[in-house]
Amino acid sequence: MENYTIERSKVELTKEDFVSDQMVKWCPGCGDHAILSSVANVFPKIGYRKENFCLVSGIGCSSRFPYYMNTYGFHGIHGRAAAISSGVKIANPHLSVWMATGDGDSMAIGGNHFIHIIRRNIDINIMLFNNQIYGLTKGQYSPTTPMGAITKTSPQGTIEHPFNPGELILGAQGTFFARGVDTNPKMMTEIMFEAARHDGTSVVEILQNCVIFADKTHQTITSKDLRDDHQLHLKNGEPMLFGKEKNKGIIMKDSRLEAVEIGVNGITEDDILIHDQYQQDPGLHLMIAKMSPPHLPIALGVIRSAMYPTYDDMVEEQIKYAKETSKIRNMDDLLNSGDTWVIE
Ligand code: SF4
Repeated sequence: MENYTIERSKVELTKEDFVSDQMVKWCPGCGDHAILSSVANVFPKIGYRKENFCLVSGIGCSSRFPYYMNTYGFHGIHGRAAAISSGVKIANPHLSVWMATGDGDSMAIGGNHFIHIIRRNIDINIMLFNNQIYGLTKGQYSPTTPMGAITKTSPQGTIEHPFNPGELILGAQGTFFARGVDTNPKMMTEIMFEAARHDGTSVVEILQNCVIFADKTHQTITSKDLRDDHQLHLKNGEPMLFGKEKNKGIIMKDSRLEAVEIGVNGITEDDILIHDQYQQDPGLHLMIAKMSPPHLPIALGVIRSAMYPTYDDMVEEQIKYAKETSKIRNMDDLLNSGDTWVIE
């Protein structure tokens, strides 16, 4: 299988090289600012020429992203970022394609495109800004809004079961899934770097705060007094420990994940599960992606990073094979192939 390399920059680039001259129009205090800063930080570390990055978006607050990065970009239409990104990557496999989308854009209006880009495993990096609301269109509930939440379109509380994006992505055969939070830019930068290295579709869900329409929606995870007990920072090959003193951990008991305290009921660190983000079987990754407070901490970091053939590599292979073996070399060959008629 031929792997298409992306040309590396001959000069060392900095964050400033990737910041555009456009005025950033997100609300003051919006979590999007931290995500933008993390991405501008990570692009020079990835090392490609500036001209080889392309950012694609749909519609929503997150989808302003391409304007704010000094790279090629395409602000698409609602829910169609996945289709446009797929076309960009297949037309030019030498580009590093990044897609910015929100929970409404990707999982409601673009739900169909979203699951199929993941299933195909096209080498694209998807940043999913999950603020659990439609921000740009002023506060309607989205597919990730928690049940019972009062919004502009659910004055008595939503009566819909929300998606857990990780569950949806792994269910669609996702090969890479990571989760970050806008309050931890260092971790976000590390995750984005790993997403860029992954050959295939990588999806990074970022828990993002919308200060206007869903302020503090992630506070059970991000507030200072709860975050140590409600966040598990995954590291490949290391035990799944959490808590301020790292004295709590995750074990498997009766085919379920359970949070335990080391030293209680004879539990030792040897009992704690070791994270393996590279294992092919997604079963445990799915269980980790579904963990949530209050009984379990939410998992942050890279949950799954498995190797499978990519769609774009296979398309290129088929095109190469067809060019080498087909008898049809030009338009005349094509028009004269198969059944033809002479009109008299
Ligand atoms: Fe950010 Fe919400 Fe403002 Fe949109 S409406 S820019 S998501 S704070």
